[in-house]
Amino acid sequence: MLTKPSPSSPRVLFGSGLRHMVAEEVARLGCQHALVLSTPQQCDSAMAIAETLGDKAAGIFARATMHTPVSVTDEAVAHLRDVNADCIIAIGGGSTTGLGKAIALRTGVPQIVIPTTYAGSEATPILGQTENGVKNTLTDERVQPEVILYDPELVTSLPTAMTVTSALNAIAHAAEALYAQNRTDHSDALALEGMQHFADGLPAVLQNPTDAEAREKTLRGAYACGAVLGQVGMALHHKLCHTLGGSLNLPHADTHAIILPHAIHYNARAVPDHLKPVTDIFGGTAPGLSLHAFATKMNAPLALQDLGVTEAQLDHAADLATQKPYPNPAPITRDGIRHLLQAAWTGTAPT
Ligand code: NAD
Repeated sequence: MLTKPSPSSPRVLFGSGLRHMVAEEVARLGCQHALVLSTPQQCDSAMAIAETLGDKAAGIFARATMHTPVSVTDEAVAHLRDVNADCIIAIGGGSTTGLGKAIALRTGVPQIVIPTTYAGSEATPILGQTENGVKNTLTDERVQPEVILYDPELVTSLPTAMTVTSALNAIAHAAEALYAQNRTDHSDALALEGMQHFADGLPAVLQNPTDAEAREKTLRGAYACGAVLGQVGMALHHKLCHTLGGSLNLPHADTHAIILPHAIHYNARAVPDHLKPVTDIFGGTAPGLSLHAFATKMNAPLALQDLGVTEAQLDHAADLATQKPYPNPAPITRDGIRHLLQAAWTGTAPT
């Protein structure tokens, strides 16, 4: 089994039809046999990749699932060893990429990722794993994939609703990066680039979901937003989504889409200058309002109540979300977070 080379920047390619180049990429890594990973829902895509690989295919493991359960990683690692695979190809969203990263951490095999959502996990050295119902997140250069192939044709199958929530999930990485404690000129530039790609590309994708040029623009946005997530620390928005997702079992991308305008509005009072680029890019007069208007125009989910959250659950969620202190531009107060949650629950513009 190959040992992973020392951490370096991934090889990142964009282009229609890139998925047909996987065999060359496997050879370029010096590998012989790739195990292809996917969710059960994307098993057909995994099979198509295995077919393209020909004798470089070591089979498929199509059991990737949300939150990267350690039990699934155990099975996948055993399978990887059984079939003598020396690298992996993950085709899918953040769940499949997460499985690939977890396998790489345990075995050192190199990874090729073919993203089909905008979550951006492929561009980060971050891995969240779940064991006994508890999700823990680690940052380790060994989980950073070696190769990322962004093929816009593969994202055309992403349903419209997921296209929108996944894009807002990516925009959230960039928006919070603008006020990160460890932000740099480079991270600011990446964040702006990512948001601009979505502001330009997403409306065109919604008009014509098979527009490969517009899809490529959004994939470039996903990469920039993912890369910035890997470089700087996140704050209120990501912490709150993590708390809500974990305690109320909410869907990842929808939760991000709903909370984003409210979290940004909350922090804009403390760091208006840092967040001014959000209004420059998405229009409007204030960053939170501008993101709310953009989300509304894109037909994004706007209200936690539409995800099945009851108003009675908001008090407990506010308690949980304010239990552990963390760095954030605006002070985190229980009343402030409860107020934020009320607006996010009803779906009104942030106040
Ligand atoms: P996902 O990977 O869970 O995908 C959701 C569903 O959509 C799956 O059934 C998947 O098979 C399907 N799907 C994906 N692409 C499709 C396509 N093009 N066409 C049709 N169906 C498609 O969702 P996600 O939002 O991409 O990832 C969420 C997970 O990623 C979360 O667990 C999150 O914590 C993690 N994540 C991790 C990082 C990181 O840096 N570690 C960053 C972002 C997200």
